[in-house]
Amino acid sequence: MDKKEVLAGIKQRMEQDRALPLASGATRLVFGDGNPEAAILLIGEGPGFWEDQKGLPFVGNAGKLLDKLLELAGLVRQKDVYITNVVHHRPPENRDPLPEEISAYGVYLDEIIQTMNPRVIITLGRFSMGKFLPGEKISRVHGREQTVSFKAGEILVVPMYHPAAALRSTEVMMQEREDFANLSGILARAKETKVKRDRDSEQMQLV
Ligand code: URA
Repeated sequence: MDKKEVLAGIKQRMEQDRALPLASGATRLVFGDGNPEAAILLIGEGPGFWEDQKGLPFVGNAGKLLDKLLELAGLVRQKDVYITNVVHHRPPENRDPLPEEISAYGVYLDEIIQTMNPRVIITLGRFSMGKFLPGEKISRVHGREQTVSFKAGEILVVPMYHPAAALRSTEVMMQEREDFANLSGILARAKETKVKRDRDSEQMQLV
């Protein structure tokens, strides 16, 4: 089974999971969008009004900004990244997701991450950052790559401000644009490191 098929299976199980705490108040599940084979996974917070209507993440105003930010980083949404959220149903009145909701959806989010096995995870906002860097302050680490333990391995995480926060503050917008412009350098270095690691492990297997 390829990644697309595995992700479709996870989506189907989520749609049937009546125990998901936000399901009853939402129009539909917002699972993810983009290229399941991409090396870069973006994780946002949760669906808003338009996402809930359309069943796709980041299709409202924050999504329009995200598309421009990805362009700044030299990335194409449908080709270079896959996008999902910390919770996959819209919270009522767009309120923040609660810790127990994040945990319930987190079981599936972990499956998505393990299926994609991305080289880099870009977190958008503090809830997504909190999954990998609990207790960290976004104002301290935004735009800087962090190596974090995840399951049995290590993963490179780049915490970014949420695009909606950039829409609310000129200062955050300036930082956000700078961070995404710098992202291409981080991604190029991460790619080189992976190529080197793969080569080293191939050589070790040959010895
Ligand atoms: N904000 C998010 O965090 N996710 C979306 O899908 C849309 C807006």
